Amino acid sequence: QSSGSSLHGPSTKEGADDLQTKSAVLHRSLKHDPLRVVSAEGHYLRLSNGQNIFDATGGAAVACLGHGNKRVRQAVMEQMDRVSYCHSLFYGTAAAEGLAKLLTASTDGEMVRAFFISSGSEAVEAALKLARQYHLEQKPSQPERKHFIARQQSYHGTTLGALAVGGHVARREMFEPILSINSSRVSPCFAYRGLRTVLEHESAYVRRLEAELEAEFQRVGPNTVAAFIAEPVVGAALGCVPAAKGYFQAVRRVCDKHGALLIFDEVMCGAGRIGPEPTERFSNPLHAWQDPLIGVAPDIMAMGKGLGAGYMPIAAMLANKKVIEALQHGTGAFSHGQTYQGHPLACQAALEVQRIIADDDLVANVRKQGVLLGSLLREKLSTHPAVGDIRGKGLFWAIEFVSNKATKEPFESTEAVAMGVHELGMQDPYNISIYPGTGTVDGRRGDHVILAPAYNINE
Ligand code: PLP
Repeated sequence: QSSGSSLHGPSTKEGADDLQTKSAVLHRSLKHDPLRVVSAEGHYLRLSNGQNIFDATGGAAVACLGHGNKRVRQAVMEQMDRVSYCHSLFYGTAAAEGLAKLLTASTDGEMVRAFFISSGSEAVEAALKLARQYHLEQKPSQPERKHFIARQQSYHGTTLGALAVGGHVARREMFEPILSINSSRVSPCFAYRGLRTVLEHESAYVRRLEAELEAEFQRVGPNTVAAFIAEPVVGAALGCVPAAKGYFQAVRRVCDKHGALLIFDEVMCGAGRIGPEPTERFSNPLHAWQDPLIGVAPDIMAMGKGLGAGYMPIAAMLANKKVIEALQHGTGAFSHGQTYQGHPLACQAALEVQRIIADDDLVANVRKQGVLLGSLLREKLSTHPAVGDIRGKGLFWAIEFVSNKATKEPFESTEAVAMGVHELGMQDPYNISIYPGTGTVDGRRGDHVILAPAYNINE
């Protein structure tokens, strides 16, 4: 079903230009230049070939307010007139301060400081370094803690540290010899492909994963572990997989028992994306860990994508009191920094995005439309012979394709179906952008697609 011609190559319609086939940008593909977006408004992307594409993915779950939001535009313009850049080593700004206050307040005191950089990968890098520094500066110092435990088939970013802890086989492969962080991986909590049989109760499955994690701590030496890192709801690496009930409480128990930190990577699933359910404590939840299904706060967390909704490149790392106090009583400084850290325009954009999410009660809409999206997907697709699983939460849904429903056998070639569905979607009469993902089976094989529309979507 794949049609390269509609996705790539020269466009014949009005508005195309020669550059489209002679890109100077180093795109992911050196064989084909991507389609060119000439404008974006609301939930639609307009291409240079005249197509209007319904953006059902928001990039990779990024554009959570859709495109062209006037409030964000105004906030950035005003910030541009105030101060567009200053170095965070010497100066602070009301933009960064306002965003940090909003985010830490949203955790009800669980997180006390926020660090802003430009991408999710950098947020994860910062989290790994902070975890290491915490162990050096806690009392007594624990310099032997330098090992990170993550999960198989996980993705935490593309920079060397984030790639080193992650377990995405295909993305690691080429760089394996230069991934030098001490790390190892345990099974993800993924019932569909987690060898959880129909006879195994969810709580028994959780106990089995807890035992595996405990065994991994013992194998590497419990007092060498700096932190365990995981996505509360797994995004592109597996395709929108919520954890089993009680799983993260079990993870927390093991980490606490051995003095390791718990890092949550909420780059994709955070900032409202999964529509966390309100609880007595968190009446307006924003973070995935606030959902009762997850139910535990991390020591350090990373946010990205939905934080700035794509209006500016911005991501954040937040840390709790225990971690920050260790540094305060230690060297008194976080030994990490970047030129564009706390960028005022990016922080102001994200601050406005987060205010809009709160003002318009968008997480409630995520919950509401998420229920509808999930039930429609199930109703229309679950009996399809190539659909193995439909899963997700909030506005974060994946469809996994299999060649055999009973055995869950994936299709032979990686990306065969996911890319095909994406490319078909891009054609008339569908004109819809669906995110293709791979690697659900062993980090190499398996197809899924993700739907992650904007939070302000309607029925
Ligand atoms: N962590 C997770 C869970 C992600 O999904 C991603 C990106 O897809 C990253 C980290 C890296 O973020 P970025 O691409 O902004 O560097």
